[in-house]
Amino acid sequence: MEKLLFEKSCSGRKGYTMPELDVAQISIGSQIPDKFIRKSTAALPEISENEIARHFIRLSQLNYNIDKGFYPLGSCTMKYNPKVNEKTSAMSGFTNLHPRSDVDASQGALKLMFELGESLKEISGMKGVSLQPAAGSHGEFTGILMFRAYHLDRGDVKRKNILIPDSAHGTNPSSAAIGGFEIISVKSNDRGRIDIEDLKSKCNDEVAGFMVTNPSTLGMFEYDICEIEKLVHSCGGLMYMDGANLNALLGIVRPGDMNFDCVHINLHKTFSTPHGGGGPGAGPVCVSERLLPYLPVPQIVKSGDQYDLIVDNPKSIGKVHSFYGNFGVLVRAYTYIRMNGADGMRAISENAILNANYLLSLIKDKFELPYNERCMHEFVISGDRQKALGVSTKDIAKRLLDYGYHAPTIYFPLIVHESMLIEPTETETLEALNEFADAMLKIAAEAETEPDTVRNAPTTTYVRRLDDALAARKLNVSWFSQLD
Ligand SMILES: *Cc1c(COP(=O)(O)O)cnc(C)c1O
Repeated sequence: MEKLLFEKSCSGRKGYTMPELDVAQISIGSQIPDKFIRKSTAALPEISENEIARHFIRLSQLNYNIDKGFYPLGSCTMKYNPKVNEKTSAMSGFTNLHPRSDVDASQGALKLMFELGESLKEISGMKGVSLQPAAGSHGEFTGILMFRAYHLDRGDVKRKNILIPDSAHGTNPSSAAIGGFEIISVKSNDRGRIDIEDLKSKCNDEVAGFMVTNPSTLGMFEYDICEIEKLVHSCGGLMYMDGANLNALLGIVRPGDMNFDCVHINLHKTFSTPHGGGGPGAGPVCVSERLLPYLPVPQIVKSGDQYDLIVDNPKSIGKVHSFYGNFGVLVRAYTYIRMNGADGMRAISENAILNANYLLSLIKDKFELPYNERCMHEFVISGDRQKALGVSTKDIAKRLLDYGYHAPTIYFPLIVHESMLIEPTETETLEALNEFADAMLKIAAEAETEPDTVRNAPTTTYVRRLDDALAARKLNVSWFSQLD
């Protein structure tokens, strides 16, 4: 019965028309060895166009997405993805280009990648770039491999530690550990900034580098970054900036000006390429002068009007992705940068910061604030006050779903109890911010007057509360196996 409800295929229906053959018809048997020829028809779904359109529209509505509503998932920069990005990345000159085409036949694509790299260098204030890494975390790993190559190249073999603040995103220690380093945690102080004394006590000749997110995952700028940079460099370590929060800095301050040696840039956050669901992303890395020799190959270079690829770089850490990275994502980010221009870059960050501070001001009286000061492009509040009434941060997040919102990031950063990390981004209107604040205030009131309503949420979604630990550990995305 269940199978009948779910299964839409019905023998003989079809939703496509094949184009007419535009090449000579050949007999399959003469070209393909017999063992590879299918002996029976493939069991493909047979379904009319009408039904398949409804199926996918229905699926898209079951999911939450940025085209559907406000998505304040802190640290993830869920800004609107302009549709012009999709238009340019679908241009046939890009989509029909094979990555093995030779350099002469791919000048347009090379030019786009070269110019995107130049823009990212300008935006970050760095000297070199690789577009290959497919995610922020992949960029971190690439940077860590370059740190390693740099120290080994100098014969400096005892640098086995990477220092990382306790507010860091989990990918930072993971990348450093996979790169072969040991992790030493650095404390945050009561203003949510790096504790300089603690850092000092850990800076020595075994330190390969310091990895820091700026602004931090608490939404705060590290005021002492110049002092920190001098400390780390003077003990022979390198400076890595996790650039996931670059949406707060565009056109205002550059990692290169803060003397970082490497920064990754999440194009799928700051530069509006789609993300979520494990789809393709891009985490280009930009480096300072001292890491230039170790950048991945191939490198794209320009001489006169001609673009070329350099592969024979003896000190390079090699390739970190097939071909040149996720090209379609690069086209989208390039489009976004060109559409906004230099002035637009600064406006993006100024508005992101303004929106976050405005939203914070609307809700701050009803929640605990771990750090009571102005924020950058995102902020952390704590659900401690509601927790005392028996309503957890998870309950609040679930209740937001009933109000039609995606929940913020919860229980991260780890150093704040019952934390909620809220990032509105610059692409939301005043009305959207007001409405979201209203929902947060209503939930704070419900926690006092009708806590069960919050504890039992969500009630309006397609599914209620799921066992997320089980879902992660025993992932099963095939409906087939669940029917038998
Ligand atoms: C998103 C994020 C990362 C990881 O980036 P991915 O592209 O998801 O791999 C690292 N650090 C911070 C602070 C982030 O927000």
